[in-house]
Amino acid sequence: MDPRTCARIHLDSLRFNYREIQKKIAPARLIPVVKADAYGHGAIAVSRCLVDEGADLLAVAQFQEAAALRDSGINVPIIIFGRLLPDELPDAVRAGFRITVFGVEDLRWIERATGGGQKAYVHVNVETGMGRVGVQLDREPDFFDQLSRSRCCAWEGLYSHFATADEADKTYAMGQLDRFNALLKRLRILGQMPPMVHMANSGAILDMPQSYFDACRSGIMLYGHYPSTETSRSVPLKQVMTLNTVVAHLRRLPAGHNVSYGRRWKTDRETTIAVLPIGYADGIRRHLTGRLQTLIGGRCYPVVGTITMDQMMVDVGDAPVAVGDDVLIWGDSENGSIQVLAVAEAMGSIPYEMTCGISSRVRRVVVEGADHP
Ligand SMILES: *Cc1c(COP(=O)(O)O)cnc(C)c1O
Repeated sequence: MDPRTCARIHLDSLRFNYREIQKKIAPARLIPVVKADAYGHGAIAVSRCLVDEGADLLAVAQFQEAAALRDSGINVPIIIFGRLLPDELPDAVRAGFRITVFGVEDLRWIERATGGGQKAYVHVNVETGMGRVGVQLDREPDFFDQLSRSRCCAWEGLYSHFATADEADKTYAMGQLDRFNALLKRLRILGQMPPMVHMANSGAILDMPQSYFDACRSGIMLYGHYPSTETSRSVPLKQVMTLNTVVAHLRRLPAGHNVSYGRRWKTDRETTIAVLPIGYADGIRRHLTGRLQTLIGGRCYPVVGTITMDQMMVDVGDAPVAVGDDVLIWGDSENGSIQVLAVAEAMGSIPYEMTCGISSRVRRVVVEGADHP
């Protein structure tokens, strides 16, 4: 039996999204981003499915994430976006992980980690305006000379990352792209070019075909969500996660009765309140209080009263709702759909934070075939 609250992960939708994105960016390659447990969807099941679809390079944020994928039998190369500290480097090199280099110091660390043995595959991230990580060439102008002299590094990739590709105004993103192109031109003249250049994330895939280069990195679109409401929707997508729970309890309350902590909501008539066994400990953020709708039997009902750790309440009025009825929190079902992007917008957040936030208490149920439209 399925647990009360569960996140169904529809691999047919994942495959659909992968193919649509790949079609859009061809001949560039798609690098699926499966960091943060595949944005909360379950990195192992998602990665196996994508490798089966033809993905030959995956990306994560941290060493532990790459190691977990390798341990589960996923053998394609894996890029790690985050910085590897010296204690992680020897294992990372041995596993053949693609190591992101942030500056000259990283080259020294890699030299020590390899001890002149096996070469480290590296991708250089250059700062073009994100202001987070990436080589600052104004501060380390001889970085690429040092890299090309390094006998420990096999230079596989060069990349940069957009700060605003999901915004309607692309002025800043175009500036980043110009700086990246200027660097590529200089490197080409010097004959210092790696085999693989990549820059686009999901926002840029939708709206900046000039930034595709050899490969594009996509996370959120693989899972079926546009990164924001400001991008185009030039790739069709299907939501991969369906988050469901059930009605655990029904109670009839008179008019004027308060519901939940803080007494912030009161019934305005006699009504039926359905109690759902899901709360902020499952990842339904408390800040969604007063901003969330659910679908029960294809009809929309508001979540009322403060969202609590383990439970939240829905005003179902006089509708014929029964204990055990299925409740859709978000995703697509035969009875209708709720967009994760709309839920995120309702609380001033982004779809990334919604799916990543679903906690380990919620069981992921992987669905292979089509069981929703
Ligand atoms: C997370 C991440 C991505 C994926 O971004 P999406 O907007 O989910 O497509 C791409 N590149 C880097 C460096 C990232 O950290």
